[in-house]
Amino acid sequence: MAKILILGGGFGGIVAAERLANELSDEHQITLVSRSRRFVFYPALVRLAFGKCNLEDVSFNLRQTMLSRRVNFIEAEVARINPDDRMVTIANGEVEGNLNYDYLIYALGRRLATERITGFFADCG
Ligand SMILES: Cc1cc2nc3c(=O)[nH]c(=O)nc-3n(C[C@H](O)[C@H](O)[C@H](O)COP(=O)(O)OP(=O)(O)OC[C@H]3O[C@@H](n4cnc5c(N)ncnc54)[C@H](O)[C@@H]3O)c2cc1C
Repeated sequence: MAKILILGGGFGGIVAAERLANELSDEHQITLVSRSRRFVFYPALVRLAFGKCNLEDVSFNLRQTMLSRRVNFIEAEVARINPDDRMVTIANGEVEGNLNYDYLIYALGRRLATERITGFFADCG
């Protein structure tokens, strides 16, 4: 049995979880960790901003969706990754502590480092 840990419940993490659940037999354990149980379909945010749809139309509950695909879902913050020990530290969520893995999928997305762009926060007025 292999323990597969997927970090991030965005497009990358969800597609990986679904594909692995389809391809692997039941003996393998798949766990997905993300800081929010709500998946938001980003491309639809423009329609949402203009009042063309509701948040419920462009988002869904990850826990329910993953459960139906036999993927464990943990709503928590990934604090640290220790590849030498094959261990991830989880904090601020429904589970806290260390999770072991045999295989890790890193899909935590990106963060805009706007603070590193000179003048980004400058007052234009
Ligand atoms: C408004 C908008 C419109 C877009 N339209 C398109 C489009 O039309 N076509 C297209 O191809 N792309 C589009 N994109 C880009 C696309 O959404 C991204 O490329 C895609 O979301 C990247 O997926 P990802 O899984 O790598 O990361 P993300 O979607 O960012 O997912 C990362 C996940 O990890 C979680 N996470 C991050 N850090 C932690 C942590 N420390 N602990 C726990 N969880 C954490 C986040 O909460 C998130 O759920 C759009 C983006 C935006 C913002």
